[in-house]
Amino acid sequence: MGRYTGPVCRLCRREGVKLFLKSLRCDSPKCAIEKRDQPPGMHTVKRRKATDYGTRLREKQKVKRFYGVYEKQFRRYMDIAGRSKGNTGSTLMSLLERRLDNIVHRLGFAGSRRASRQLVGHGHIRVNGGKVTIPSYQVKANDVITVKSRPRSLGYVRNSLESFHGRVPDFLSLVTGENPEGRVLRLPSIEDASIPVQPALIIEFMSR
Ligand code: SF4
Repeated sequence: MGRYTGPVCRLCRREGVKLFLKSLRCDSPKCAIEKRDQPPGMHTVKRRKATDYGTRLREKQKVKRFYGVYEKQFRRYMDIAGRSKGNTGSTLMSLLERRLDNIVHRLGFAGSRRASRQLVGHGHIRVNGGKVTIPSYQVKANDVITVKSRPRSLGYVRNSLESFHGRVPDFLSLVTGENPEGRVLRLPSIEDASIPVQPALIIEFMSR
């Protein structure tokens, strides 16, 4: 199953939760979730009671869509988490949070994860001074995230930071100004995840 490319608000309505897939619109009254409290589609349809399978599937889909990862990639994270010594759910969420596109978004360098993925993919981001164009790149503690020193790259990021009203999470630090700079203070844990999640449901779904 590939990455969803249709209207993104539809995904939030399907999952019944704000996935913050657009930038400023998500925090505005224009958000489709705020405006309409009903499932996607033109007509109001009563939802059937979710089965256990459906509940677990929705939880997995919610997280996958929130971070914008493909099914195959998500399964790979699950495999790594399953093989790790720590708690599987916690490791899974840490792996997702450590993605460079997520970090760039959480620093406020881009308004959405989609936009930050583009920013990384187009070579506007530096990690420890080196160019990294892989959105799934896993950051490490003490990594320093900066922006390519070109007016276009810096201008885009400065604009994003001006309209950024979120809070930089505790595991990151941010220095704004002429040359914005983010630093990974420590590896993120499940408490740092940007979305409320019940990893047990995902694990049950994936190991069925
Ligand atoms: Fe989801 Fe953002 Fe659309 Fe609201 S505006 S429904 S949070 S993508």
